[in-house]
Amino acid sequence: MSLSGSASSSESALRVVWVYPDLLSTYGDRGNMLVVERRALQRGVRVERVEVRSDQPVPVSGDIYLIGGGEDRPQRLAAERLRADRGLVRAAHGGAVVLSVCAGFQILGHEFVNDLGEREAGLGLLDVVSVRGTGQRCVGDVLADADESLGLPVLTGFENHQGVTRLGSGVRPLGHVRAGFGNGENSGVEGAWQGDIFGTYLHGPVLARNPLLADVLLKRAWNVADLAPVDDRWYEELRSERIAAVGRPS
Ligand code: GLN
Repeated sequence: MSLSGSASSSESALRVVWVYPDLLSTYGDRGNMLVVERRALQRGVRVERVEVRSDQPVPVSGDIYLIGGGEDRPQRLAAERLRADRGLVRAAHGGAVVLSVCAGFQILGHEFVNDLGEREAGLGLLDVVSVRGTGQRCVGDVLADADESLGLPVLTGFENHQGVTRLGSGVRPLGHVRAGFGNGENSGVEGAWQGDIFGTYLHGPVLARNPLLADVLLKRAWNVADLAPVDDRWYEELRSERIAAVGRPS
């Protein structure tokens, strides 16, 4: 959709698709949908929220797709169904904006290692491959300087994963890690993005911790360079609290 003077009319509602809430939504990833919805509404645009459970087809007509994190077994089930369904792949190829978190991020790559220890095909929407890390599980708060072309302040989030993700030449890291593990293996980077497809290990939920990242998704969905600023005071309180907590013994 494009943002126009009649943006609040029903035909121009923003369609936000939440993929597989029954399998993939750990650590409050559901909040990502609420933040996108609220920030769209604050710009006068109604949101049509589409929750697609894993036994339902993924519609191809969404503007923004959100997919969250999950345990290893639900992650395998989700990947199997998304590969068979093709809806998310078709939507992404058609220009939809996608934000994926943790297990969802791994599924969007070329492959990941599943709960059976086997390499499993992902959707190939991001030029990344995930393997199972052999070291300690990556758990805790993360701080990462966002990729400079995104124009975002420092990224904050919470991570909890065993998988580590290696980036191919077709993606850029979402951020450069200041604290925490990010993609793991001392890569120094967190997440990945290419075009309108984003992946991150950050929960929190990531868009509540980084509301300007939600605005990046909205700008891409609406094809606009700027959005009217909104009151970010509550987000700023959360951000300062979590940024200050990094490195503090828990
Ligand atoms: N199961 C995956 C891993 O441990 C993803 C975990 C998650 O989504 N929090 O790497």
